[in-house]
Amino acid sequence: MISSKRKSSLSARLASSSSATRKSDVALADIRKSHAATIIAVGAKRSRVIPIAGGDGSGVFGGVEFLRDVALYDRGPASTFSQLGQRIVVIGGGNVAYDISRTVIRQVGHDVSRSALRQANVGQVHLCCLESVEEMPADDIEILEGHEEGVELHPSLGPVEILRTPQGAVRGVVFKRCLRVLDENRRFAPLFDENDLVTIDADTVIWAVGQQTDLSLLSGCKDLEPNERGFLPCDAETLQTTASDVFLAGDIAYGPRLLIDAVASGKKCARSVHAHLSGQQISERQTFVHLNIAGFSREKDYEKIPRTSFPPGDSYGTSTAGRRTPW
Ligand SMILES: Cc1cc2nc3c(=O)[nH]c(=O)nc-3n(C[C@H](O)[C@H](O)[C@H](O)COP(=O)(O)OP(=O)(O)OC[C@H]3O[C@@H](n4cnc5c(N)ncnc54)[C@H](O)[C@@H]3O)c2cc1C
Repeated sequence: MISSKRKSSLSARLASSSSATRKSDVALADIRKSHAATIIAVGAKRSRVIPIAGGDGSGVFGGVEFLRDVALYDRGPASTFSQLGQRIVVIGGGNVAYDISRTVIRQVGHDVSRSALRQANVGQVHLCCLESVEEMPADDIEILEGHEEGVELHPSLGPVEILRTPQGAVRGVVFKRCLRVLDENRRFAPLFDENDLVTIDADTVIWAVGQQTDLSLLSGCKDLEPNERGFLPCDAETLQTTASDVFLAGDIAYGPRLLIDAVASGKKCARSVHAHLSGQQISERQTFVHLNIAGFSREKDYEKIPRTSFPPGDSYGTSTAGRRTPW
């Protein structure tokens, strides 16, 4: 959270969740009282989860939380990392799903003591997504490198239920065949074959179906109301929220995108706050740079050459494990 008046606010910490709450945390409402403008740029740091039967309970984690534990090397008993099993289902078909799948494989494969302790084979990672391989949002390179690292890809599957043992441990995930993800107008409207069910054995499920913002920091600010999608609305041009002194920047302003979008929105937001406080507009200045790299050349119209399509079937890692019908 960056405020316009005080440099000290850069070090201000806000309570974003009960576990993160510290005595030194500063409430957003208090920051607003002592500042003329406040920018919230807390990102989208919480995994989105699809509410399905069996989803609540042990063995089911958010992908962003898992990556955070790995990045911070949090291996305490409560960490996602410590609770990871040996047969993992990652649900999602984007780059984040691949980040998670490949990270799982590396952790399981590289954690010698843990593997030895369990006398286990290297864990299996099954990546299941709604889209067909051609439609998957993940970059081609992620799919190919994920395959090289051992990620088993199961496209065109939508999650139905997480199966549990009588003791409550995860034992598998039931999926239904996804026949189509987008409708004729290219809107997200998945169509399923309810009778074509697939069960994939698993002891751990990790969600990678998107991120959402943690807006618990808004408590005490009645003039800041999230919309039905869980985002705090703001003006697309000024990034100003319904409260005139509060502005948004980055993923919290428009949902998860790319780093470069967050940087651009930060600049836009700074211009907007300046205008709000001073009444003076700063116009955007664009600089175009074209560098000729000596000795570098491509064949004519290189950018227009279509990408090579994927080879069919198992050669890029799709698996038929658990399938009832051929496809
Ligand atoms: C797994 C994953 C992989 C990605 N890979 C790429 C990629 O390869 N290339 C790419 O361009 N983009 C990638 N992205 C997207 C990119 O990371 C985001 O779009 C970008 O980081 C958003 O920037 P931001 O400043 O809005 O938020 P963030 O970078 O998320 O930063 C938010 C900051 O706010 C802090 N914060 C959170 N809550 C509070 C609080 N209550 N009080 C105070 N501080 C708080 C956080 O600690 C953090 O420092 C990826 C995202 C994910 C989840």
